[in-house]
Amino acid sequence: MPDIGTEKPRLLLDIDGVLHVGEAPLPGAVDALVALRDLTAGIRLITNTTSKPRAAIVERLRRMGFRIAEDEVITPAATALALCSERGFERVLLLVPEGLREDLAGLLEPAPDRRPEAVILGDLGESFTASVLNEAFRALLEGAELVALQHNRYWRSGEGMVMDVGAYAAALEYAADVEAIVVGKPSPQLFEAALCRIPGTGRALMVGDDIEGDIGGALGAGLDAILVRTGKYRSEAVAASGIEPTATIDSIAALPQLLTQ
Ligand SMILES: [Mg+2]
Repeated sequence: MPDIGTEKPRLLLDIDGVLHVGEAPLPGAVDALVALRDLTAGIRLITNTTSKPRAAIVERLRRMGFRIAEDEVITPAATALALCSERGFERVLLLVPEGLREDLAGLLEPAPDRRPEAVILGDLGESFTASVLNEAFRALLEGAELVALQHNRYWRSGEGMVMDVGAYAAALEYAADVEAIVVGKPSPQLFEAALCRIPGTGRALMVGDDIEGDIGGALGAGLDAILVRTGKYRSEAVAASGIEPTATIDSIAALPQLLTQ
């Protein structure tokens, strides 16, 4: 590992597949997070989860034993809100789970006489039906921008791998011949927004299980990136990506030791 210098590193952690899988914390993860608080200038958790509001993400982590403050968790919904206000999007078609709407309060649904200016796409899970996708498709044909809360291909649920928002966004991009604006990982803005909330100028480190969203995204934003062999990690996906993490460790439980080497 490169010299970490005298200043403590600033640490960004992915949540799903790094701290837990399903409702179970990964072995050693709760203790590792405690140790990492002493070893770093600060920690922010950046997730591409768009199936739940931030409050529910925090509550679930606390139930599993992680000590987390709500403002330590950064989600794509907050970044999407900022984007809509920057671009002046007032009427949007919200394709997000009911529970996520509280994080997007302030955006108006399309009126009968007014087309949406954007389609905001989150993780609808089982509700991703042909009729929902066609509603979005028609809005895009009429000129709405596609805003994807993230662009992951898949994730590992308690029941196995499932298609993620990126796969549905890609279907819409292909059908309507448009390119989505992605506000979650690997968008550099999300990494930068998270980092600027940690004091100091120490080395910036991202830890994740997704070779593209976490590792490729962080490297692209100028951070060091540590890949964990938990969650959705698959060695074939890493080899096929051509992306080289700064380091690879078995799990987050090994990170405190890596930082003190
Ligand atoms: Mg993950």
